[in-house]
Amino acid sequence: MHILVTGGAGYIGSHACKALAAAGFVPVAYDNLSTGWADAVRFGPLVQGDLMDRAALDDAFARYQPVAVMHFAALSLVGESMRDPAKYWRTNVNGSLNLIEASVAAGVKTFVFSSTCATYGDQDGVTLDENTPQMPINAYGGSKLAIELMLHDFKKSHGLNSVIFRYFNVAGADPDGDVGEQHQPETHLIPLMLDAIDGKRPALTVFGEDYPTPDGTCVRDYVHVCDLVDAHVLGLRWLQAGKGSRVFCLGSGQGFSVREVIEASRAVTNRDVPIVQGPRRAGDATSLVCGSTRAVGELGWKPSRSTLTQMITDALRWSRHPPFAK
Ligand code: UDP
Repeated sequence: MHILVTGGAGYIGSHACKALAAAGFVPVAYDNLSTGWADAVRFGPLVQGDLMDRAALDDAFARYQPVAVMHFAALSLVGESMRDPAKYWRTNVNGSLNLIEASVAAGVKTFVFSSTCATYGDQDGVTLDENTPQMPINAYGGSKLAIELMLHDFKKSHGLNSVIFRYFNVAGADPDGDVGEQHQPETHLIPLMLDAIDGKRPALTVFGEDYPTPDGTCVRDYVHVCDLVDAHVLGLRWLQAGKGSRVFCLGSGQGFSVREVIEASRAVTNRDVPIVQGPRRAGDATSLVCGSTRAVGELGWKPSRSTLTQMITDALRWSRHPPFAK
């Protein structure tokens, strides 16, 4: 049974391909390799194609006859989305519309979508869950919310069933070292911090220490990429069991400030993190913390690796691994 995995050469997509293969599916990675890595496609075929290329999408559906789609491919940097919102609206929304239309045309009614906590915006101090109103404050979150709305409409008009996962901050790497996080350029906190510890960068810049949090730095909910992709396999099974469209938030339920993540990295590596203080990064919410009661209760999700120590340990091992080539 083939599953079309858009963004299958990327960080989360490549881990999802591994989890799908372990669950007995054949993941077909559909990726334009703009940010992904051919080397990361290890568990099934790679189709090098763009979501804007409807003919290439139709070919992939015809060739592999997937029973479901997992849609990871997207631009996903908050800061970049503030500088160039048009790029985010165009790529994420138009690309997803093409994919959703191609899925419906191919008769695929099972769709798993990676959305984000960035659809919530800045809602001080609340634990965010599936019922929290969505009020994005950056074009990344806005574009993902638009795709969620698109999926609701295609459910009503075409019977396309979707599981929508709203992720919090994904971290860590495959403990076997088959795949891991590699962005070019890297913008995420944990890999940048580990590079600073290893002397591959001069220092980590802390983006703002004047937020209304206990230590002044932003609070995020970090979830292990392996736990996250386990939820995707459970979501796929949910849809295959005919349980219908559903939204699930995926996080650990615990918030950590940037300073706390720095302290945890220091404890794991036993080395100091070189730091410089910087201004706030445009588009950053103060605090994003998740309630995953629904995913745990309804999907039977068990996020067992999502402790800071485990995520940093797995990310550190991967960061010392030879990098992927294109
Ligand atoms: N952050 C930071 N310095 C960096 C990168 C990130 O202080 O070099 C902070 C950022 O402001 C946010 C948190 O770390 O509060 C997580 O950022 P990341 O880019 O990893 O994920 P995001 O929250 O944007 O999805």
